[in-house]
Amino acid sequence: MSGEVAIARGRVRAAILLTLLPGGFAFGQPADPYLAQRRALIAELQAEARADAGSAARIERTALDLLARVPRHEYVPASERDDAYENRPLAIGYGQTISQPYIVALMTSLAAPKKGLKILEVGTGSGYQAAVLAESGAQVYSIEIIAPLAAQAAQRLKRYPNVGTRTGDGYYGWKEHAPFDAIVVTAAASSIPPPLLEQLCPGGRMVIPVGSSFFTQTLLLVHKDPQGRVRTRQVLPVRFVPLTGGPG
Ligand code: SAH
Repeated sequence: MSGEVAIARGRVRAAILLTLLPGGFAFGQPADPYLAQRRALIAELQAEARADAGSAARIERTALDLLARVPRHEYVPASERDDAYENRPLAIGYGQTISQPYIVALMTSLAAPKKGLKILEVGTGSGYQAAVLAESGAQVYSIEIIAPLAAQAAQRLKRYPNVGTRTGDGYYGWKEHAPFDAIVVTAAASSIPPPLLEQLCPGGRMVIPVGSSFFTQTLLLVHKDPQGRVRTRQVLPVRFVPLTGGPG
């Protein structure tokens, strides 16, 4: 009898020890084999952020903290998993890509997500950017035009009660949940879609790559002031897959 109690106590102690061990141990779960790689990537981004400090393309520490919490390897196809913590875009099927971590960090910085804000993402893709935004506690709505990608991302994002997803043409935004404090567009538009501008709150910000599908695109930070006037700032030359859909 007392022997059983002793064993039980021993187990409890082992469980407590496990949760305290470094290396991503959660109770009863194996260590995250990618933890060291993820930390190295964040350190690399931190170094880039220091180099860019003071420029329009500066990355805030808070954005890096959000990236550090999301296991990027769970958002890429199994064949790409070992490259998940390289600072580059990766193929996710259907001719689409998960953006480079540096760009995700920058767009997250510019969107400045936090609890209490409502954010629209256009181009769910893998679901990674939506997860990073959701880690802030913001309410995130993300829309994807390719149905199988939308379905896969919805599955991955189930762990976030503060993320809503749907299949559809994000050129037209998501009217039912508008207006948004921030809008993050992760595919390149030829110009800023008017419906997205309409669905931005006064005082809100939109981060959007604009330009031709094949040549130069520029990441823009669009501010709508409290009077509804729009101000646009060029942040960085970028290369995104094209925003499809829309009127033409
Ligand atoms: N944010 C994504 C990046 C995906 S790449 C991630 O973190 O993985 C851009 C995505 O935008 C693609 O999946 C593409 O299918 C989608 N897309 C392109 N045009 C769109 C549109 N009009 N509405 C919604 N999604 C669109």
